[in-house]
Amino acid sequence: MKELIEGARQLGIDLNARRVQQFELYYQKLIEWNEKINLTTIIGYQEAQVKHFLDSISVISALTKEEMYKADFSIIDIGTGAGFPGLPLKILLAEPRLVLVDSTAKKVAFLRCVTRELGLDNVEIVCGRAEEIAHLPLYRQRFDLALSRAVASLPVLAELALPFCRIGGKFVAQKKGEVEQEMKKAVKAIETLGGKLGQVKRIELEGLSDGRYLVIIDKIYPTPEKYPRRPGVPGRRPI
Ligand code: SAH
Repeated sequence: MKELIEGARQLGIDLNARRVQQFELYYQKLIEWNEKINLTTIIGYQEAQVKHFLDSISVISALTKEEMYKADFSIIDIGTGAGFPGLPLKILLAEPRLVLVDSTAKKVAFLRCVTRELGLDNVEIVCGRAEEIAHLPLYRQRFDLALSRAVASLPVLAELALPFCRIGGKFVAQKKGEVEQEMKKAVKAIETLGGKLGQVKRIELEGLSDGRYLVIIDKIYPTPEKYPRRPGVPGRRPI
């Protein structure tokens, strides 16, 4: 895990031996399951360390120290797939409540297995569509931090993620490429959903200097009841 350890150091994190071991095991399980079900195309040992693990933990650049170590900090990862970015972040921070959401049952089976193997507490895995889960009282406006990587465009993501954030919480979207344009298109959706565009941070880490950004959206007002709309509608007709 040399690449990951070095990258984490650049982020100001010292990974201890237990965490390195957990990442090692995570990688093994990812490769093992990837032979049976389609989890990722990034399977090389070094590539996975950088493009999955390091890229996931780079999200901490969007958090203040206070947030990171707040008691009862809660995180939801929407469309987490094989656990990115939620699980690496959980390995790192250990304490927070983490909810992983994905609509694909096979991926959810992997997530249950890997979370158990890694010995992670306080992780809940929910199989379903974000559009529906966001209306359940247990999840609606309950989270300090909503995350999502490689799931949809920003206007669509705003509708899927902001309903989960409590007021004062935030949504951090990991984005690559033409971020400015995407942000312009998302302004209306963000406002409609009770958000406010905050900072945009560029990630500059070895192996991740291909134009990666964290788009931070603060939740400042409640999300109107009607959002998110029915499954598939946010994607077909973005606000
Ligand atoms: N975040 C992961 C996976 C990205 S692939 C990564 O960066 O590697 C997108 C994932 O989102 C898929 O696993 C898909 O099942 C899930 N997904 C897409 N739309 C969703 C929705 N509306 N609700 C829940 N999961 C969704």
